[in-house]
Amino acid sequence: MTHQPRIIKRSDPSRIEIEWDDGHKTVYPTRALRGICPCAQCVDELTGVRRHDADSVPEDLTHREVVMVGNYAISIDFADGHGTGIYTFAMLRANDPAAPTGP
Ligand SMILES: [Zn+2]
Repeated sequence: MTHQPRIIKRSDPSRIEIEWDDGHKTVYPTRALRGICPCAQCVDELTGVRRHDADSVPEDLTHREVVMVGNYAISIDFADGHGTGIYTFAMLRANDPAAPTGP
């Protein structure tokens, strides 16, 4: 089962905070979300290879808008003009920056 966000806080443009239906909280620096953008410009659709360099994202990148996409995802309009990525809730939950990494 995919967790659903209960609250998506975007009052601070340098981060996006998600409170999930199970009470878990995820805090994403806006920069980190830009770095995992899954859109066709950033990731090669055929090979899955990332074409966008996450290290090129400015440390202080902010977002201008966060929009719900259906009931399964959000899209984010970044201050660098990029906004085509669809961030599914499953992806946002799986990439929690505070979670332990590794297999
Ligand atoms: Zn992208």
